[in-house]
Amino acid sequence: MKVTGYTRLAGLIANPAKHSISPLMHNAAFKANGIDAVYLSFEVEKAQLEASLRSITALDMIGVNVSMPYKMAVIPYLNELSAAAQLIGAVNTIVPTHDGALVGHNTDGSGFMRSLADIDVDIIGKEITIIGAGGAATAICVQAALDGVKKINIFNRQDNFFIQSRKKIQTIAQKTQCEIHLHDLADTKVVNNAISRSSLLVNATGVGMKPNEDRTAITDFSAFHQKLAVYDVVYNPRKTKLLQIAKEKGLKHTNGLGMLLYQGADAFELWTGQKMPLETIKPLVE
Ligand code: NAD
Repeated sequence: MKVTGYTRLAGLIANPAKHSISPLMHNAAFKANGIDAVYLSFEVEKAQLEASLRSITALDMIGVNVSMPYKMAVIPYLNELSAAAQLIGAVNTIVPTHDGALVGHNTDGSGFMRSLADIDVDIIGKEITIIGAGGAATAICVQAALDGVKKINIFNRQDNFFIQSRKKIQTIAQKTQCEIHLHDLADTKVVNNAISRSSLLVNATGVGMKPNEDRTAITDFSAFHQKLAVYDVVYNPRKTKLLQIAKEKGLKHTNGLGMLLYQGADAFELWTGQKMPLETIKPLVE
C-alpha cells in the first residue's frame, strides 16, 4: 500500500515500545482491509506524555494504543473512559472523537474474554480463579465481572499488589453483579477449594515466563479436575510449565497469545469500525 497525502496515522505510546508486536498486527490489518493508514511505535519520555496525547487530535490520528508505563498515567489527559477502563483504572486504547475528545478504553480484559471461545470455554454464570492482582489480573477480573461471571477468587502473594487491590476489588464487586474475594496465595487449602469449584484457572502473573520456565505460581495441582480449563497470560514460552501440567491432565488450556491478539482486534475495531481480518493476523502473532 502506498503512503500518500491521505494516509492517516495510528500508533503505540509506551517506553520501551520498539519490541511491540502491535505495528505488525495493525499494519497488516490496515492493508488487508484497504484502510489508508500506518501504525508506528513511539517511545515516549514521561515529560512528553501530555504533548504526545495532544498530538492525537492535532495530527488527526486514527487512534493509539498505550502500554507500560503509561496505562494509568494517561487517564488525567482523557475526556472520557469506557466502563471497563474506569473500573480497571488503566487504558490501553485511545479513540479520538469527531469533536476532538479522547476516549480511553481497555481491551486487555475484553481480548481475554474473546479469546476463550478459541478453546471452547464459556465462563458466564460460573466461578473462576485468578492468580495475581496486578494489571493483567485486574483487566481480566473487571471484564469477566462485567460480562456476567458469577464468582471470582483472586489469589495473590502478600506484596504491595495484595494491599492495593483490596479496595479496587470491593469497588468492582459493588459495581457489577459478581462476587469477588481476595485471598493469600500461600493458603494452599483455600486455593485448592477455589480451584475445585472453578471452571477456569488463570495465571495472571509473570511466573513461568522466560528465563524462569521451570516455575509455576501454584505448586499443588491436586485440585485440578476434568471440567477445569487453564489459561496462562504468559506467551513466552508458548507452553509454560503450568500449561504442560494442564495438558498432561487432559485439560483445555491456552497461553496469552489469544489475549494479545484480541486486545489488538478490539482496539482496531474501536478505531475503524471494521473487524480485524483475524485469518490474516492470527498467523503473525503465533
Ligand atoms: P503487574 O506487575 O501489574 O502484576 C504482577 C502480578 O504478579 C502481581 O499480582 C504480583 O503480586 C504477581 N507476582 C509477581 N511475582 C510473583 C511470584 N513470584 N509469585 C506469585 N505472584 C507473583 O504485571 P502485569 O502487567 O499484570 O503482567 C503480568 C504478566 O501478564 C506478565 O507476564 C505480562 O507479560 C503478562 N501480560 C500478558 C498480556 C497478554 O496479552 N497476554 C497482557 C498483559 C500482561
